[in-house]
Amino acid sequence: MTNGDKGPSSDLKDFVSDFDAQKEKLIGALKRLCATYHYEVQGRSLLPSAAKILLSYDCERKARFYIKNPGANVEPHFDPYYGEKSRFTTTYILDHLKRRLSEEGIEYTITTESRSELGVYDVVVGLKPKDVVPPRKQATLRLEVKASEGIPLEQVARYLISDSAPLILVRVAFGQVTVLRREDLQPFSLMLIESLVAKANRLAEGKHVTIPGGDCFDCRDTTCDYFRGWRKRSDVVSLGAVEFQRDMDSFFENLPSVAETTSLVVLDELRNEMEAQ
Ligand code: SF4
Repeated sequence: MTNGDKGPSSDLKDFVSDFDAQKEKLIGALKRLCATYHYEVQGRSLLPSAAKILLSYDCERKARFYIKNPGANVEPHFDPYYGEKSRFTTTYILDHLKRRLSEEGIEYTITTESRSELGVYDVVVGLKPKDVVPPRKQATLRLEVKASEGIPLEQVARYLISDSAPLILVRVAFGQVTVLRREDLQPFSLMLIESLVAKANRLAEGKHVTIPGGDCFDCRDTTCDYFRGWRKRSDVVSLGAVEFQRDMDSFFENLPSVAETTSLVVLDELRNEMEAQ
């Protein structure tokens, strides 16, 4: 969203300035929340996890409980197939992407498992510094690769807050590749971060809102009047034989086209970046 060759429009500048001010407030509020409940490891606040918890629950008492009792937040056990599929997908897509970037003569950098303030990106792709004169901080793209059907929107929300670089979402199960840009989602992004700042402040100040309902299922706060009981999930989350066959079929069928589409999207974004210099 630019104003021809005159640079960013004043609306965009206002948005960036408003968003950056809110982000500073959010990081401060999350740090305060983590410090209040000692949600830290070796003195370092667990900001990504705190943001994840806040974005996952309507009931703020439950959110506060999991921040106060990190060991209580037990994730289900998944069939190792999911992890293996995720790793292989990233490697397959990146190997194709490297080939396509080289064919186009673009010098690039790629990082995997790249840490940001509010999460860990699957992949970060950027131009080699020599192609960006002067070097710019945001000359990068982020890729989030989903080999399975689920797509946690709280994670997408955190990544949109964390960085303004384009976020490329890759969904192999449905053959979908899409690009999200914070600047194209201005009303959504501002409302999201303002609500999150208010939520973090409420929790840090002990003014959390208790909301019984859907969140009570699997909540472990036994001291709450609405506690319904909790059962440890010992079984492994896995696919049945028919679903497994369907999953493998769609996986191998979709992966080549998804890898090519992802490469084309990345090439397009990097070319735009080079032209913008
Ligand atoms: S039992 Fe329900 S109301 Fe109570 S803390 Fe848990 S989710 Fe909230």
